[in-house]
Amino acid sequence: MSVIAVRNLHKSYGKTPVLRGVDLAVAKGETVCVIGPSGSGKSTLLQCLNGLEPFESGEVIVAGQHIGWGRGGARIPEREMTFARRRIGIVFQQFNLFPHMSALANVMEAPVQVLKRPRAVVEAEARALLARVGLAHKADAYPADLSGGQQQRVAIARALAMQPEVMLFDEVTSALDPELVGEVLAVMRGLAKDGMTMLVVTHEMGFAREAADRVIFMDGGLVVEQGPPAEVLGRPREARTREFLGRVL
Ligand code: ADP
Ligand code: MG
Repeated sequence: MSVIAVRNLHKSYGKTPVLRGVDLAVAKGETVCVIGPSGSGKSTLLQCLNGLEPFESGEVIVAGQHIGWGRGGARIPEREMTFARRRIGIVFQQFNLFPHMSALANVMEAPVQVLKRPRAVVEAEARALLARVGLAHKADAYPADLSGGQQQRVAIARALAMQPEVMLFDEVTSALDPELVGEVLAVMRGLAKDGMTMLVVTHEMGFAREAADRVIFMDGGLVVEQGPPAEVLGRPREARTREFLGRVL
């Protein structure tokens, strides 16, 4: 069963087409990495999946729920969208932690405030999640006192606290100093191994090679090529994929 199903997705910004008929499926437990040049529509795709951006046509289903403005322009009710969003965790390049809250409070915020779950239960879960991202000892630290890699790991724990059915990652290591990238990728590898369904936009080809079940190459608003990492990264069929890999590898 697909946790993410996208069919013939078209989206423009003004008159500029950005997604030009994207088809995509991610199965439960699968880790799919999306690679491609800057401007190819990767972030826009994730924003359509999370209902952050409207689109003109096509179908987007995430965790069994139709998302957004597709299907002939009919928008699903905001209430349904709000519920759908809770099942989708998303982590961006910028961590955007609440600066006035400790790491623990950041992780607890949404389950307590949005889901109205009991504080004591949520706190126990949040501490376990901080341990899972290697930050049990930083529960009381504030974002300003954490490194970029630590902040990003708190952001991952915060997304996991909503118990999402799928996690979307948009270049989550791109803003980090090189020596901090590894600790974040290690957390993501662990999640993949534990069976989380993940769609990961990344420039980290090493991560894609080792952790992805499938790699998707996007260019010009289209999925150009997809397959196992050894094939797409090792012996790409399409000239555009070869050209891109020649530049980044
Ligand atoms: P990627 O993540 O692959 O770099 P994006 O999805 O960010 O690509 O962008 C795809 C195209 O859409 C680019 O040409 C970009 O300039 C344009 N774009 C992205 N966001 C907006 C926006 N909010 N308004 C107008 N154009 C945008
Ligand atoms: Mg992007």
